[in-house]
Amino acid sequence: MKYRKRGVQHNPRRTKIVATLGPATEDPEILRALLLSGVNVVRFNFSHGTHKSHSLLLRKVKKLRDELHLPVALLADLSGPKFRVGAFENGSIILEDGKSVLLVGEDTVEKGTSEIIPVQHPEILSNLRPGHILLLDDGRVKLEVTENSAPGRVCARVIHGGILANHKGLNIPHADLPIPSLTSKDKDDLAFCLREGIDYIALSFVRSANDVKELRKFIQSFYENHFPENAQDIQKPGIIAKIEKPEAFSDIENIVEYSDGIMVARGDLGVEMELEKVPILQNTLIQKAHQCNKPVIIATQMLESMIHEPVPTRAEVNDVAHAVLHHADALMLSAETAVGKYPLEAVTMMDRIIREIESYQEKEGFFGRLESDVSIYPMPNAISRACTLLSQDLAIKCIHVLTRTGRTARILSTSRPEAPILAHASHHSVVCQMNLLWGVQPFHIQEDITLHEFVDVTNVTAKEMGYARKGEYVLLVSSPLKKITGRATGSIIVLEIT
Ligand code: PEP
Repeated sequence: MKYRKRGVQHNPRRTKIVATLGPATEDPEILRALLLSGVNVVRFNFSHGTHKSHSLLLRKVKKLRDELHLPVALLADLSGPKFRVGAFENGSIILEDGKSVLLVGEDTVEKGTSEIIPVQHPEILSNLRPGHILLLDDGRVKLEVTENSAPGRVCARVIHGGILANHKGLNIPHADLPIPSLTSKDKDDLAFCLREGIDYIALSFVRSANDVKELRKFIQSFYENHFPENAQDIQKPGIIAKIEKPEAFSDIENIVEYSDGIMVARGDLGVEMELEKVPILQNTLIQKAHQCNKPVIIATQMLESMIHEPVPTRAEVNDVAHAVLHHADALMLSAETAVGKYPLEAVTMMDRIIREIESYQEKEGFFGRLESDVSIYPMPNAISRACTLLSQDLAIKCIHVLTRTGRTARILSTSRPEAPILAHASHHSVVCQMNLLWGVQPFHIQEDITLHEFVDVTNVTAKEMGYARKGEYVLLVSSPLKKITGRATGSIIVLEIT
């Protein structure tokens, strides 16, 4: 698959857009328009849909991205251990402030009532203690545990009442629940995703780096079992750790280290933690990820009102703008594009806000390049910093990166050079994975290209795509030189366009 000429924008946005697919975007014409409007990553939410519905949609996306020559990345978001209530008589109940309720396993009652709430994971009940807070339906209803003395029966008091419908979510902040991070449904979904060739897997409710390691182990053993001859050579999907539990913050450095990127999943994070803490946590997570050269996706309710309205609120525009100003790598649309009335308008609006802020940053000459107090850098980081400085000093028009795994492009991206990064890789999934990275335009290149040939390709690409004219400079960064010298090398070539 080639991504030359067609499909890649001449004036690309640096901050990327992730759009969740669903009933609102399954029509092939809407899907085509969505991809053409600049979506970089499409998200399949495994909390909804079936393998059959995801498979149909995946086929449509793969066909369109080939046809349109767009390296759109496929991201599968696993449901994770999300707790839910069971079903109620007449579909919902009303809970009144101050009243007592009983929580039981859903296998012990046929239907719940306003006195008895069935829960889907009865094994969590024994871990609840008096004083634990239970948040239902994204925190709209709040209960406090008052007693847990009889097996499988927990008494609670309604603190904030309201309507509670079938299967709404149940969050239990700060309770230590012995639930595996990969449920049996997740394992089933994962096997499906690995067979389908997904580019990124998002892991929900990550509590520690062990959750990420367990997922990586599962992926590795899947390939070893299914492709024993070449499991090592297969490009594995990247792992995005969703930060939405307070526990994750005590192991955040390791979580970032073992993942390929993180998502600030503000939906559950805002239920599990005080809402007013979320904005600073968002910025802290961006900094932590960038220190480790990993991308960050900001998710949930970015343009929420556009589910029903063709224009967003002023506050939502501000939220998107500030995420860009604070150096997020990608912004995510959820229900706006999955079930909303205005999916294309939501993408276009997000694109417009991002471009406006980026043109301000361009005028200011500052995209948030990281300063750091370390005096000696690992080689790829030092090379990236040097590229960023060189590109300023020499008014470099674009930086070409030749990469095998996408790592060099990822590290360069987090050093935030002003010049666009044109990243070339031979593996199809690496090309698509790089489309999540800030400032990176991915390209497919033949395997085993020589440095000589690469120089020719970069010269032509820079001119054809309107990045540089004759006499102007571009940079070439290449890690595969290691192949020639047999030892760790980092090379930067300044090339005059001929
Ligand atoms: C979130 O909680 O913000 C999120 C992105 O996860 P989900 O949509 O799976 O709830």
